[in-house]
Amino acid sequence: MDRRNFLKRASAATAAAAVMTTSNKWVSASAIDEDKQIGSIIDLSKCDGCEYQDTPLCVAACKTKNEHRFPQPEKPIQDYWPRDHHEDWSDEQERIDRLTPYNWTFVDSVEVDYNGEKKKVHVPRRCMHCDDATCQKLCPFGVIYKSEHGAVTIDEDFCMGGAKCRSACPWDIPQRQAGVGLYKNLAPTFAGGGVMFKCDMCVDLLEKGEKPACETSCPRDAITFGPLEEMRMEANRRANDMGGFVYGDEENGGTHTFYVSEVPYEKIDEAIQRDKQVNEDQRPGRPHMKPEVENLLYTAHGFTLAMMIAPVAGAAAAGITAYKTLKKEEVEEVDIDE
Ligand code: SF4
Ligand code: SF4
Repeated sequence: MDRRNFLKRASAATAAAAVMTTSNKWVSASAIDEDKQIGSIIDLSKCDGCEYQDTPLCVAACKTKNEHRFPQPEKPIQDYWPRDHHEDWSDEQERIDRLTPYNWTFVDSVEVDYNGEKKKVHVPRRCMHCDDATCQKLCPFGVIYKSEHGAVTIDEDFCMGGAKCRSACPWDIPQRQAGVGLYKNLAPTFAGGGVMFKCDMCVDLLEKGEKPACETSCPRDAITFGPLEEMRMEANRRANDMGGFVYGDEENGGTHTFYVSEVPYEKIDEAIQRDKQVNEDQRPGRPHMKPEVENLLYTAHGFTLAMMIAPVAGAAAAGITAYKTLKKEEVEEVDIDE
């Protein structure tokens, strides 16, 4: 076994030990049922960015579905100790041009130079739901889980907003809102910075056998969820037929999201970077699209980090399990008393 494969297998084993089951809807990394895994295709040859709408329909549907979970911070908001700033998107809840705690998907529309022509490309962006999710395995509090369908989900009730998941994610996907969350009760001045938010693959709908809101709202069938291996094969078939490319099959060690495009992703990424430079856009939430992204966990540095975090994350997750059990018992006792 070469060093990279050793690290890959070892990181999976470490994470399996770390990721505790906090309720029966979440599964440990070692108990993943391959037959239940859901993937998705985002077909850029079909997406027109809903240019005729004020808001792309997938973005609007995602916002409507999730708005009851959007953070409502109390103000004034404390800085993220020991730093002298905090991240507050609460006055920009209508923003749809990037990922924020109030916008879990957006369409990045860019003009690409390709084959001597200028071509408009519309790229719906959100969490990729990675196979070996670096955000999950490097969360020090153990509050990121995989559902039985492979959806990578943050437990917003227990997230401390440290944003390690964002720095561990190659696309910086999870976004932070300060002034909300558990830290406010535990240690408002010294710990945490809020709560992290991102796409959860509409896990509640998947559990009911329904499709995610972004798929059902898309009038051009540009987004399709289905059995993971079927989606992988279909994405590769479509790319072959159009002489195009797939993104997400190999990136970050493999993901549950497969982009299909006739334009190379290097070109799309160049256009995103150029646009960000022209607009002096340094804020988080507009991910790159560089191909061949290496998974941090397969590097010596990432492996060491995962080894250090695993016991702490495991203990934190065990604490959360105990807390949830206690709360459940309290609720049941009240029900009986009534
Ligand atoms: S894309 Fe980023 S946030 Fe989503 S599962 Fe992968 S590492 Fe985690
Ligand atoms: S899967 Fe659900 S949460 Fe994720 S982008 Fe689509 S609608 Fe939003």
